[in-house]
Amino acid sequence: MTSLRRTAMTRRTELRRTPMTRKRPNAQKTVAGRRKNTGPSNTVRGLVYARAGWCCEVCGRQLHDGNGWTQAHAVHHRRPRGAGGSSDPATNSPCNLLLVCGTGNEDPSTCHGLIESQRTLALANGWLVPQHGDPASTPVLVAGGATVLLTATGTYASAEWVTP
Ligand SMILES: [Zn+2]
Repeated sequence: MTSLRRTAMTRRTELRRTPMTRKRPNAQKTVAGRRKNTGPSNTVRGLVYARAGWCCEVCGRQLHDGNGWTQAHAVHHRRPRGAGGSSDPATNSPCNLLLVCGTGNEDPSTCHGLIESQRTLALANGWLVPQHGDPASTPVLVAGGATVLLTATGTYASAEWVTP
């Protein structure tokens, strides 16, 4: 009598989870001419948000409740990026940026819309800086009524400046 022994050949093929390979966008690729992706880095944005206390720096309204943004907002360039402006390191420095309510639309009930629609006022208050101007030495009227200088490190410095 031959006993047929069957050895169970258990073969375990492990299901391997292959990590999804993400394609890296060519973020570093620079194209001659204008690109939209010329804004401030996340680090700089963080400095601006902290300086502003997560409030609009022009009207003071709160934009963030600690969990997320509650209002439309924008990081506004005081001196416009302009042609080739993004190559100037000052363009995306905290001294050239303001956290304001509103987005790029021209709604004048928001500070961003106000700045865009009332340029004379915006220039007088330092919310806009002419292309040839220096944002670091141009005082800006901020929420609460103080006139300050914005530093490159994301703080307010006192400005000796009298409102005309
Ligand atoms: Zn505002």
